[in-house]
Amino acid sequence: MKKGTRGARVLETMVNNIISRWIKTCVTWPGAYDKDGYGRIVFVKNGKRTRVRVHRLAWEMAMTQKIPSGMLCCHICDNPSCINPFHLFVGTTQDNTADMVMKGRQAKGNSHAWSLHPDKAPRGEENGNSSLTGAEVLAIRSEYGKEVRSQRKLAKKYKVTKRCIQQIVRKETWRHI
Ligand SMILES: [Zn+2]
Repeated sequence: MKKGTRGARVLETMVNNIISRWIKTCVTWPGAYDKDGYGRIVFVKNGKRTRVRVHRLAWEMAMTQKIPSGMLCCHICDNPSCINPFHLFVGTTQDNTADMVMKGRQAKGNSHAWSLHPDKAPRGEENGNSSLTGAEVLAIRSEYGKEVRSQRKLAKKYKVTKRCIQQIVRKETWRHI
């Protein structure tokens, strides 16, 4: 009985680590970027150079299928340098706009699975990426300018990482609000 309980705790810790490390956290492309901030690689075939955005390739690799022509590969994390397939979805321009509107205006909601929408995920320790609402993001930006100058203090207050606060303050994430 005791053994089983310990086993369950170990499993819970491991699953939480996987979620915070691989699902909630943005994975930044270490290579080159295009002018819009998307990671890119260049293919050379028969002397012809083709530039491809890496997040699109990442989605195709993870899903083992091609993005239909004319469709966008969008970031739910609003971080163009991120290649985490859990943070990507394929949609139309309208889908992308709807996603931005939902994130910006609807502070809280459960219309999507949290695992695919880390900005709405429950808070947890070692939460690398933002699990904040739009209202909280705006509050952080305003507090950082006036009352609180320390990103560390804000990170503690909102139970997220310092890096997360830094990205919000620099508008690297949540750029649409
Ligand atoms: Zn991301």
